[in-house]
Amino acid sequence: MSTSTSLLDQVVREIADEMAQRSDRGEVASYIPELARVDANSFGLVVVDADGHVAAAGDRETPFSIQSISKVFTLTLALGKVGDRLWSRVGREPSGSPFNSIVQLERERGIPRNPFINAGAIAVTDLILSGHQPREALGEILRFMRFLADDSSITIDEAVAASEQRTGFRNIALANYMKSFGVIENSVDFTLGVYFHHCAIAMSCRQLAMAGRYLAYAGRNPSTGLNVVQAERARRINAIMMTCGHYDGSGEFAYRVGLPGKSGVGGGILAIAPGKASIAVWSPGLDANGNSHLGRMALEALTRRLGWSIFGV
Ligand code: GLN
Repeated sequence: MSTSTSLLDQVVREIADEMAQRSDRGEVASYIPELARVDANSFGLVVVDADGHVAAAGDRETPFSIQSISKVFTLTLALGKVGDRLWSRVGREPSGSPFNSIVQLERERGIPRNPFINAGAIAVTDLILSGHQPREALGEILRFMRFLADDSSITIDEAVAASEQRTGFRNIALANYMKSFGVIENSVDFTLGVYFHHCAIAMSCRQLAMAGRYLAYAGRNPSTGLNVVQAERARRINAIMMTCGHYDGSGEFAYRVGLPGKSGVGGGILAIAPGKASIAVWSPGLDANGNSHLGRMALEALTRRLGWSIFGV
């Protein structure tokens, strides 16, 4: 059953109003100093349905740092480049550990648990980089984002990238550790340079929800009818978002929201209601797992009111 656009508009507006009243907003990430400058009271919610209707509320047009949400798109690109060979470099099991954890890497011989923890995403970035200069790889990622969102104004926030490059000691450790197992092919500096920059892509909720449409509609962009990926690939990326997209908070996200989702420490979440909608929410305050606190609450309210959890109403 499809959701009427007037109901969708109303629910999105109500949720934004409810979130604006709340004082429990979580903590804005500060380990990347530039991210700490963001206004903690920001909130945006955008839902794009199968007919292209856009229901939006709050700071829908304000670009924010997408951070780890970029990992969905780099995974898509890397699968396009090397196909299932990717899975010899990175696993697809939930880690149950924080996003920047190093502990499993030693036991599992440098193979990261999944493509969404930092180690896994760095390994995926390394695959995209192979055979290219960092600038070319980054250009490819940025062009892909612009193509998916149908918006050429999307850019990289260089201040955020530089800030993370200066303070990214954990990621530098992860990359060097993987390099020692031969999991990273390129120079660690080059791979991390591309990784930090794709995490620093700035997008609004509207742009992000537009970019996620191929995952909601079996790999197709419904407005152009063009296939971005095969339906099977979209389904599998959704499965990994469901099981791994919120790190050690993935179980809780599935329990409360019931949609494939990917969070970033910039406070954004991309959530996919297969066949129904692509959803982006942004609230910079994070919970203890580094996932947007109000973002998850908003998605929980949305799926409950619309009966959109993939596990039933
Ligand atoms: N760029 C961030 C990091 O590597 C991404 C983390 C995140 O969004 N969870 O630490």
